[in-house]
Amino acid sequence: MTTLFISDLHLDAERPAVTELFGAFMQGQARRADALYILGDLFEAWVGDDDPSETGAYVAARIREVADAGVPVSFIRGNRDFLVGDALARRAGMRILPDPAVVMLYGKPAILMHGDLLCTGDVAYQAFRAQTRNPAWQAQFLAQPLAARLAFAAQARAASAAHQGGMKQNDKAQFEALTDVTPATVDATLAQFGIDTLIHGHTHRPAIHDLAVGDRTCRRIVLGDWYEQGSVLRVEPDGMALDSL
Ligand code: MN
Repeated sequence: MTTLFISDLHLDAERPAVTELFGAFMQGQARRADALYILGDLFEAWVGDDDPSETGAYVAARIREVADAGVPVSFIRGNRDFLVGDALARRAGMRILPDPAVVMLYGKPAILMHGDLLCTGDVAYQAFRAQTRNPAWQAQFLAQPLAARLAFAAQARAASAAHQGGMKQNDKAQFEALTDVTPATVDATLAQFGIDTLIHGHTHRPAIHDLAVGDRTCRRIVLGDWYEQGSVLRVEPDGMALDSL
């Protein structure tokens, strides 16, 4: 009995080996799982469900096979693929969960998030996030031609890389702090829900952290990205393991 969690695959046409690794994962261990959770940034970019990219079609087909094999697949949107919509979810046979979401894992509750909401130190990013999650902004964006949306996404990624690159050069400590979770926000989230387990991705800093929140011992599990290798969290009734693929 195993429930699998993955995130931050950043799939796109530029890195076909990772897409193949994802395909092998989906055709192998994912089919034998009790459930599969994809916690965001499955795609490097997603500008709307009408995107005809080959990678998108391949990924949707692999998810569909797992769902059709009887494994429930759930997805939380990331900061790169926040425009994944109901059409793609239907095509892939997966359900979209809110961020944060609470699920039961073998009788114990866990909070699931992409993770960007925990990075409250990056005020500029949180403002961008609020703007782009606004339904009116999204409707206006999705009404633009596909080429214009792809150009916007490429420009946003370049601007983000420049912003991060500059920060890394000028102030490495600030860069490390802003691109990781804000500890007080983690504590507040665990306290607010009154749940001991938090699973998220986004920061690309895979680890299992034990931390005290009030008089409780909580656990924060951070999934790894798929840039150099795959990363999967396996949760079983009596334990969990964070593994590389
Ligand atoms: Mn992310």
